[in-house]
Amino acid sequence: MAAALQFVLVPLLAQGHVLPMLDLARLIAGHGARVTVVLTPVNAARNRAALEHAARAGLAVDFAELAFPGPALGLPAGCENVDMVTDVSHFIPFYDAVWLLAAPLEAYLRSLPRRPDCLVADSCNPWTADVARRLGVPRFVFHGPSAIYILAVHNLAKHGAYDRAAGDFEPFEVPDFPVRAVVNRATSLGLFQWPGLEKHRRDTLDAEATADGLLLNTCAALEGAFVERYAAALGQKVWAVGPLCLLNTDANTRAARGNRAAVDVSRIVSWLDARPAASVLFVSFGSIARLFPPQVAELAAGLEASRRPFIWAVKESAGLDYGLEAWLKDRGLVIRGWAPQMTILSHPAVGGFLTHGGWNSTLEGLSHGVPLLTWPHFADQFLNEALVVDVLGVGVRAGAKVPSTHVKLVNPGELLEVQVGREDVERAVAELMDEGPAGSARRARAKELAAKAMVAMADGGSSNTDLNDMVRHVTELAQKTREEDMVLDAAELVSKKMDDADGKYPVASEVV
Ligand code: UDP
Repeated sequence: MAAALQFVLVPLLAQGHVLPMLDLARLIAGHGARVTVVLTPVNAARNRAALEHAARAGLAVDFAELAFPGPALGLPAGCENVDMVTDVSHFIPFYDAVWLLAAPLEAYLRSLPRRPDCLVADSCNPWTADVARRLGVPRFVFHGPSAIYILAVHNLAKHGAYDRAAGDFEPFEVPDFPVRAVVNRATSLGLFQWPGLEKHRRDTLDAEATADGLLLNTCAALEGAFVERYAAALGQKVWAVGPLCLLNTDANTRAARGNRAAVDVSRIVSWLDARPAASVLFVSFGSIARLFPPQVAELAAGLEASRRPFIWAVKESAGLDYGLEAWLKDRGLVIRGWAPQMTILSHPAVGGFLTHGGWNSTLEGLSHGVPLLTWPHFADQFLNEALVVDVLGVGVRAGAKVPSTHVKLVNPGELLEVQVGREDVERAVAELMDEGPAGSARRARAKELAAKAMVAMADGGSSNTDLNDMVRHVTELAQKTREEDMVLDAAELVSKKMDDADGKYPVASEVV
């Protein structure tokens, strides 16, 4: 019997990238493969629960831990995840340190008893391309963001729209796009498309162009047109295998997702149990985005004025003092730190999600049939907003216009104004949670999409079919490689015999 396939997964060190990769690991291991996820010690510790959960389910998933070279580049010891980079001047050194993981990854792979059959690397880890090539391992790129975003960025770059734009906020349409989408330079930049990261961006484009295939965390029902166009534009095999969060439908897998919650999960569940169906707004801006203090205060005032029950996951260290928190207490629940997001979104009392629109949060809201109040901050989030509101019809805009990265990274001198005032929050929450015909129709559409996403991931669904096809493809590649290795071994044996006869040393084959 052939040995089990061996996959090595290399996520970007950010929770929004690690979590879907851990889901992908379990999904692939469910096909009988062995899967190793490459992390660093801090990230391994944060995500250990997912590993233990996989082991209990009998899945062959493990971690390989590489020491993070951050301190050599001036980063504080233990700063190993994007959400730990609080000083903007550490941003580029952080990515430089990530790039330095190439040598330890190669050493680790060479130390394995046999060459892995496939390496799946986050699109933000292009430094894996040379490693995989040197070892002769097929390599797939995993895209963390949405298909609408990666297609938009591709088309904007190809048609020169970024270069032509008169300023960062001049509006233009995304060319050659399945839907009409109006963006501007500031809200549509690609990953690493910031000053100082030009090499990182070039590397990601090269690594994608030379990949053996692409994996997307989405499905045909949500983004079919964008996936198809992207596959055609790149002329590559693309498998849409999501929403991966749907692997976490029971309480055990939900709880194993990401950091340990900062609060007692059962307290949140009983708080929600006491509320009517679809009455609660969940407010969270993901793992990285932070509102600045005056903006936090405006949000708090808007939530209070909206007179709706809410759960607010607060990551900001300033802006919501204890006086303000006490004032909000009658109406809502404030979680300071990591919220059990999947548990909250899957509760029937939750009827709306005020989100920054990171792709995982978007998928998690959509997969649970919860309409979204979108408040984008950076990266794919403005295009995700367009998808949710304009294309899928399951969202309402809060009104954010300027990416936080525009102020922090592109124009560091500029000040970010309050973008969403208390009246905007009040208006948008009222619209989202509306129980009249418009709100009901939005909720019904959200439920329909959730059902479709579920079907996509079930046996015979589009994402399940794509995943099976990807695994079959790797099996065939592995079979071919083994046959080639056998031919090489046989040739080597013959040449060794001939060399022995000549009294010469055999030529050493590459040891992998
Ligand atoms: N998350 C969570 N609790 C939190 C914050 C985030 O469980 O308090 C999870 C969330 O469910 C999602 C991921 O972290 O799976 C964040 O990814 P996303 O793409 O939404 O945003 P990012 O953090 O990358 O901006």
